[in-house]
Amino acid sequence: MAERFETLVLHGTCKVKGNMKSKAAPIYQTSAFTFGDLDELEGFYHGEGNYLYSRVGNPNTDELGAAVAALEGAPAGVAASSGLSAILAGILAVAKNGDHIVAAEDVYGGSYHMLKAELSGLGIETTFVSFKDLKSIEGAITEKTKLLYTESITNPFLRVENVEEVVKIAKKHGIYTLVDNTFATPYHCRLFLEGVDLVAHSATKYIGGHSDVTAGVIVGGAELIDKARARIVNLGLNLSPFEAWLTCRGLKTLALRMKAQSENAKELAESLRDNRNVRKVYYPFERGEKGYGAVVTVELGQEVDIHRFFRSLGWVKIVPTLAGVETSVSHPLKTSHRALPPEAQEELGITMSVVRISVGIENSGDIIGQFDKAIEMALI
Ligand code: PLP
Repeated sequence: MAERFETLVLHGTCKVKGNMKSKAAPIYQTSAFTFGDLDELEGFYHGEGNYLYSRVGNPNTDELGAAVAALEGAPAGVAASSGLSAILAGILAVAKNGDHIVAAEDVYGGSYHMLKAELSGLGIETTFVSFKDLKSIEGAITEKTKLLYTESITNPFLRVENVEEVVKIAKKHGIYTLVDNTFATPYHCRLFLEGVDLVAHSATKYIGGHSDVTAGVIVGGAELIDKARARIVNLGLNLSPFEAWLTCRGLKTLALRMKAQSENAKELAESLRDNRNVRKVYYPFERGEKGYGAVVTVELGQEVDIHRFFRSLGWVKIVPTLAGVETSVSHPLKTSHRALPPEAQEELGITMSVVRISVGIENSGDIIGQFDKAIEMALI
């Protein structure tokens, strides 16, 4: 019988073994592995014996890749030094100089910048279009296009991507899909099972969950992940064993955390929707049996002084990230979307009044209380 997600996350992942039968996984904090003689060393290159050098492979980093693959329902996965490294490895697994990508215009600012500033310099051009309009995706595809790239829940307005349609378009044109599942996590949607070729995670966020690592994972079919792994090895995008170990430790509570954080987020979103000093609440209320994520974005009303609001949040910290167990806030205009040109910021509606809330596992009444109080204190 296939285990359900809450069981799989504990028993189907993170199985690194040592020879001392320790309950917790050992950390292979080593840059290299030793060999008894030249025959044994030669054997490595013929597929005998697993490890040589930690940039090339390490039990802890391999474990993280395999664990996230298991949760996404994919055959293979590989860890990388950050979410961006994982996305880069995925892109370079399918695209090279002269190729073209069609990406959603509202992808994470850092990913946008990587495509615009770095990959175009390497001869991989990207056209950014609104993925809300399926015709504009099709319209941007050329004979050079190799990849459609988007996010399952976008940042900061939490648009839920129509993955089924994006996959259909890609299949029709014989091209690949890469979807960043950082905000939703496989707790909410398992994208490989929905036909996506490559699923990327900034494991810095919910996969790790405790704001103490920077890590990434890309999962997919064995052939594509072999190519992504080669990019990680050759470009030095590997994750360290300790970071991988910490991420695997965090991963064990993914189901518990996502459940609690998503429930709290929904309650907070409902409460803020009723607050007359909040102009708009962005939260995908209707989607998903288990809710739809733990991020709520709000546009505060004009009568709220944004600087005073940020100073009045008490134990809710201002951080340029999300997904820790503690509730935190960020200011997309000044952080995640800073790299976008002003026209793109305006077009997307990323203004000074937009606040992204990453909801934690505190008592939901206390979280709501903190935001009500901060809004009240910031009224002009
Ligand atoms: N994808 C999304 C949706 C993100 O929010 C981020 C970072 O905020 C990234 C990718 C990049 O991840 P990392 O900072 O781990 O490189």
